[in-house]
Amino acid sequence: MRGCKRPPMESAPAPVTPEKLPAPLSPDPRIELVGLTRAELKAELERIGKKPFRAGQLWHWIYHQGATDFTKMSTLSKEFRVSLAETHKVTRPAVATEQRSQDGTRKWLFRFHDGKEVETVYIPEEDRGAVCISSQVGCTLSCTFCHTGTMALVRNLSPAEMVGQFMAARDSYGEWPSPTDGGRMLSNIVMMGMGEPLFNYENVAKALQIIMDHEGISLSKRRITLSTSGVVPEIHRCGEELGVNLAISLHAIRDDLRDVLVPINKKWPIAELLQACRDYPTANNARRITFEYVMLKGVNDTDADAYELVRLIRGIPAKINLIPFNPWPGAPYECSSGNRIRAFAEIVNNAGYSSPVRTPRGQDIMAACGQLKSASERDRKSRPGAIV
Ligand code: SAH
Ligand code: SF4
Repeated sequence: MRGCKRPPMESAPAPVTPEKLPAPLSPDPRIELVGLTRAELKAELERIGKKPFRAGQLWHWIYHQGATDFTKMSTLSKEFRVSLAETHKVTRPAVATEQRSQDGTRKWLFRFHDGKEVETVYIPEEDRGAVCISSQVGCTLSCTFCHTGTMALVRNLSPAEMVGQFMAARDSYGEWPSPTDGGRMLSNIVMMGMGEPLFNYENVAKALQIIMDHEGISLSKRRITLSTSGVVPEIHRCGEELGVNLAISLHAIRDDLRDVLVPINKKWPIAELLQACRDYPTANNARRITFEYVMLKGVNDTDADAYELVRLIRGIPAKINLIPFNPWPGAPYECSSGNRIRAFAEIVNNAGYSSPVRTPRGQDIMAACGQLKSASERDRKSRPGAIV
């Protein structure tokens, strides 16, 4: 277990890819196919006079093969490929920058057609790894320990923009066609980037359904975790309709403190949130709910807090993910000491809950939890010709 080390925040390594800036705000009128559900893709093909079975062929090329060039889609007639390329497109978000941490973590700043940007992070393990996907540009919520929360929401991301983050990350590793033998480097998805996914539920659901589709990317729901600050009404839906793993940003065991740290608590307080967890359809011992708990020095990290935490979640199949607070410029908190985190973890562990301490990853490129986006705002200010 490691305590937090303050990252050398002003000396992050330079991006390794040359910036392709400023990206033209292309008025490309062609219709994007990425992000359409199967039903929408069928409907689109019918609209242009094609048989519905063509949707299956296109789906395979787009999501199994990872093709972006219609001319390569050899099972389609040449004529169809040419006409499709005139009216439709299969694209990825533009890579504004790509940074690589000393620990192997990769962070991309992706730019969309309107110039808005989000960050996506890939955290490799030995033979697998998780892609941390953003669901919104910024966040409407303002959790006081989160850097993303200091920016105003600009907008929700579309299904194409979320699926596109994952596909672009896989491009970067050449992980196409989609491996069927389980040997994937980009093996997991965590919806833990910028934004509150359950405030953009419809689009998030479409994106994840596309990613889980068995004839395409085919990532199992067991390998996808959605993290929420506690949008209670959507939690049940998420379990019923998507069946993905659930992570809850708990961070406090008393409403008065959680009201400050995670202000959405004023709307859906701890008791309601925990009830939603008890009711979560897929929660069982094999698929436990993760409670995320950021360790803030002198704020939520006493032994008494740890005892109360395990009392509160009793009966819920759960694990507690202790996250050393990742600092950012001007943050009003400090991370608890390594000893404090260890003592807290021990109490939780002794109560029978697994309590891994999340090792901060990619801190040298501001890619750790809660550090996203603001870094790109800072980048933008110093980038000549940048689109703001
Ligand atoms: N909006 C969602 C998902 C994105 S945040 C949510 O809040 O759950 C992903 C995780 O990072 C959350 O658990 C969040 O509480 C945590 N986090 C945010 N800022 C952090 C920081 N500065 N240090 C450590 N963890 C942080
Ligand atoms: Fe938004 Fe999550 Fe950050 Fe809170 S912790 S401000 S919900 S991104």
